Formats: sequence, structure tokens, C-alpha cells
Amino acid sequence: MSDLLEQRLQQRLDRVLFSKEQIDQRIESMGAEITRDYSGQPLTVITILQGGALFMADLIREIHLPLKLDSVSVSSYEGTESTGRVNFHQSKLPDIDGRHVILLDDILDTGRTLSAISQRFAEECSPLSIKVAVLLSKQVDRAEHVDADYVGFEVGNEFVVGYGLDYNGEYRNIPLIGVLKDEYIQS
Ligand code: 5GP
Ligand code: MG
Repeated sequence: MSDLLEQRLQQRLDRVLFSKEQIDQRIESMGAEITRDYSGQPLTVITILQGGALFMADLIREIHLPLKLDSVSVSSYEGTESTGRVNFHQSKLPDIDGRHVILLDDILDTGRTLSAISQRFAEECSPLSIKVAVLLSKQVDRAEHVDADYVGFEVGNEFVVGYGLDYNGEYRNIPLIGVLKDEYIQS
């Protein structure tokens, strides 16, 4: 990204929580951990679109094992609020029979998304196991319990953007994670 574009988008942030360097480092060590845990096993990494796309692209290059990739597309957020419903945007689920699965998402918040997806996978498919990796875990009381097996960073209960995380579809391409200035959030 050019310095100018980076500056223009980043001007909209009130605070930076995690820099590109911090994110890169954390993902490198998470990849090393996954490499150790799944050595010699049939592994499928499934990302939750759109938010998990950047995390997936960087994480899989730090997993030094043969693996398959897939994705599911769901949504539960409107603006800066969770609607409490998880909508699946496709009816066909990935083919994960007989494989270990790591589900990847950008952020664990209420837990509804990861819980709904793990439940559908467990009920409708026959994976060997399902684990969860998230770049961020929000410190909130979850509506649904989710065990996150790999967590990048803990964040407080605030709305964050960047590195895949959007506000009304935008800001996903900021290469770091931060909090938007109030003036850029429609009330
Ligand atoms: P959950 O189902 O755990 O409430 O939320 C998961 C989804 O909500 C995430 O995949 C993400 O799309 C969205 N989400 C939750 N918290 C945030 C946040 O702070 N910022 C952004 N941009 N999205 C969030
Ligand atoms: Mg999401």
C-alpha cells in the first residue's frame, strides 16, 4: 500500500491497537504452533469470509504442512452491532469428512458465528476434529460458549477495524488493527 493511501485511511483511526509488525509476529508463532500440532495429519483450514480472509492468507503461509483450504460465508453484524442471527450465504458445506478442521475467523465476540458453524459441521459432516483459531478475542460475556484453541490477541469490548475487519464493508484493507474516530461512525 502506498504511504499516501495508508496515511489517508489511517487518519480515520482514533487509536492503533496492533501494528502490522505485531500481527506478523503473532501469526508466525501461531503458524509454528499449528505446524507442530498437526504434523502428519490430514488438515483442512476453513476461513469465515469476509473478515477472516487476510488472517487466512498470512497464517497458512506460516503453517509448513500440506493442507486444504475452504471457506464459508456468513454474516451477523449490521454496522457496529451484532444482530444475534447468523446467516449462511451458501447451502453447500465444505467436504471435511475424515479430516481435521481448523476454523479461522478474524474475531470472537458473542461466539454465535463460530458456535453456529462448528455445530453445523459437527451435525452435517464427519470431520476428525474441529478447532478454532481467531486473530482477536473480545473480552465480553459470550452469548454462546466457544473454546478458541489459537488466539492472536485479546481486545477490550470495543469495535475494531482493519486487517480484514470492516465497518459497513470498508476498512478491511488497513494493514493494522485500530479503533475508528467517532466522526467516521454513523450514529
Ligand atoms: P460473533 O458471532 O462472535 O458475535 O462475531 C463474530 C463476527 O462479528 C466476526 O466474524 C466479525 O465479522 C464481527 N465482529 C465482531 N466484533 C467485531 C468488531 O469489533 N469489529 C468488526 N469489524 N467486526 C466485528
Ligand atoms: Mg466475520
